[in-house]
Amino acid sequence: MKTVGILALQGDFEAHHKAVERAGANAIEVRTESDLARCDGLIVPGGESSTMLKLLDQEKLTGPLKLFAAQKPVYGSCAGAILLAREVTHPSQASLGLMDIQVERNAYGRQIDSRIALITPENGGGEMEAVFIRAPIIRKVGADAIVLASYRGDPVWVEQGRHMVTTFHPELTTDSRVHRRFLAKL
Ligand code: GLN
Repeated sequence: MKTVGILALQGDFEAHHKAVERAGANAIEVRTESDLARCDGLIVPGGESSTMLKLLDQEKLTGPLKLFAAQKPVYGSCAGAILLAREVTHPSQASLGLMDIQVERNAYGRQIDSRIALITPENGGGEMEAVFIRAPIIRKVGADAIVLASYRGDPVWVEQGRHMVTTFHPELTTDSRVHRRFLAKL
């Protein structure tokens, strides 16, 4: 059975852990370089992207994560998507640059910053509930990226080669299409 690591420095890593197991793979929490070495793929969960960036540096995981991503799939949800992006705005901040997307943080504004919406992924299966929590908006998508789902005209599920992001939180619903798509990349 394949092993998916969940970056467990901060954020909602426990829900991803359970979602990966529901989707049929083994999950481990990743806090060190040696944890990472045991994984076939990695999930960067939601949380606070600026805090996660600092913790990655503190734990000396930024370099190892980039090396890992050069060979193995990484999936980022919400704050994780912000970390995977090539460019981050509002405010601008550093990122890992694993996918050719530009994201704007906290882009839905204060009033409607969290909601459950219905989206219809391009890759089948009908409508899906998508939980958005202080989500970013993906403002630009490079030519090599594929948009798998949109909400109000903006991409919310995008993949590029072995990597993938969602601006919503599939680990908070029982629909395992997003996690199964990631497992298929391992
Ligand atoms: N607003 C957070 C950020 O900018 C992301 C929120 C989330 O992951 N649910 O990092």
